[in-house]
Amino acid sequence: MSGFRTLDDLGDVTGKVALVRVDLNLPMNGGSATDVTRVEAAAPTILELADAGAKVLLLAHFGRPGGKRNSTMSTSFVQDAVEDVLGREVMFISEVAGTIVDQSVAILRDGDIGLLENTRFWAGEEANDADFAKGIAATADFFVNDAFSAAHRAHASTEALAHLLPSYAGRAMEKELKALDAALEKPEQPVAAVVGGAKVSSKLDVLTNLVGKVQHLIIGGGMANTFLAARGVDVGKSLCEHDLTDTANAIMDKADHAGCTVHLPYDVVVSQEFAANPASLRVCNVHEVAEDEMILDVGPLAVEALGDVLKTCRTLVWNGPMGAFETEPFDEATVALAKTAAALTQDGSLISVAGGGDTVAALNHAGVAGDFSYISTAGGAFLEWMEGKELPGVAALSA
Ligand code: ADP
Ligand code: MG
Repeated sequence: MSGFRTLDDLGDVTGKVALVRVDLNLPMNGGSATDVTRVEAAAPTILELADAGAKVLLLAHFGRPGGKRNSTMSTSFVQDAVEDVLGREVMFISEVAGTIVDQSVAILRDGDIGLLENTRFWAGEEANDADFAKGIAATADFFVNDAFSAAHRAHASTEALAHLLPSYAGRAMEKELKALDAALEKPEQPVAAVVGGAKVSSKLDVLTNLVGKVQHLIIGGGMANTFLAARGVDVGKSLCEHDLTDTANAIMDKADHAGCTVHLPYDVVVSQEFAANPASLRVCNVHEVAEDEMILDVGPLAVEALGDVLKTCRTLVWNGPMGAFETEPFDEATVALAKTAAALTQDGSLISVAGGGDTVAALNHAGVAGDFSYISTAGGAFLEWMEGKELPGVAALSA
C-alpha cells in the first residue's frame, strides 16, 4: 500500500481541530487499565499535533456496547491512563457530535486534548453510517487515523470519516504500514514466512495467500500436524484437523506450483500428557510418534535446519508459535527460532515482522521482541493483512 498522507503533509495546524482515531480499547481490571501499550503507541501522534497547536479530539471505541449507551463502557474509564501516558490533562467529552462537543471545543485552547465518548454507543458507528460520520466531522478540520488495529473494520470512525475530511495516517499507522509494505508488498527476497499456532482452520486464508508470495513457508505448531497427517504421517493423539487433509494437500500443491518450499518438522517433541515437564517427554522423528503420544513442539534438529533457512532469507513474516509455548519445555523451538531471527535482524541481514496475540506473547517470553524489525500488536487487522485483504480503514486513507 502506498499513497497515503502523513502528518508531514499537514500545514500549520494552529487552532485547527484534529479528530484523531486511536485505539483505547485497553485491557481493564476493576476500572483501571492493566496495559497501556496502545496509549503509548498513539502518544507520539497526539503530542505532535498538540505541540503544533491543534485542538486534539481523541475518538475511539471501548468494548462492545452494541450501539447503545452503556455506563460500564464509557471511554471516561481510560481517561486516567491517557493522562498518565501523555503527561497532560485531557478533557472528557460525553458525546461524539453535537452541541456538547461544540461547546467543549470552544473551551479547549490551542494544544489542548479532549477525549470523546465511546463511538460504539451509537449504532451509526458499526453501520459505517454517513450521517453519523457527518455529525462527528462537523466539529473538525481534519482527520488522523492512528489505529491500525481497527482498520480491518469499515466503521464510521475508521472509514466514512476519512472520506469527509482531509485525512492523514498518524505516526503509529504510518510505521505499521511501512513495516508491512516492506514485509510482503515490496519485500527484499527471498522471503520466509513462519506460520504456527493451534489450527489450520483459523489460518487457511493466511496460508493460501502466503504460498503465492514467499519462497519459504515454515509450518509449525498444532497446524503442522494436519500437514504431516496429509502426507501420511501418523500423528498419534496430537491436535490435528483430519478433515482438512485435502485442504492441506491443496495448499502444498499451490506452493509447489508457485515455487514456494513448504518446511514441515522432521523431528518433534512428544508426550503422553499435556503438562509441564511430563515424565513421558521425548524427542523423536515424526514417523516414530506413538499412538498414545501428542506432538507439542518442533524438534531441535528441525529448528536448527529452519534457522539455516532463515540465514538464506532477507525478509521474515511470522505469525503463530511453533509449539505449545505456554507450557515448559514446549516453548523451546519458538524461543530458539525467535532468537535466531532476532540475531539475524540485529546483524542487518534480515527484516523481521511478526504479529498475532500469542505470537507477541511468545516473542516477549523469548525476550527478543525488541530485536525484531517490527512487531504488530494489531491482532485481527494483522491477520487480515496476512490474508492479503485490503483493509477498509487503510484504503480510505489512500483514496
Ligand atoms: P496467534 O494468536 O499468534 O495468531 P494462535 O492463536 O494461532 O497464534 O496459536 C497459538 C496457540 O497455539 C497457543 O496457545 C499454543 O499453545 C498453541 N499451539 C502451538 N503448538 C501447538 C501444538 N503442537 N499442540 C497444541 N497447541 C499448540
Ligand atoms: Mg491467538
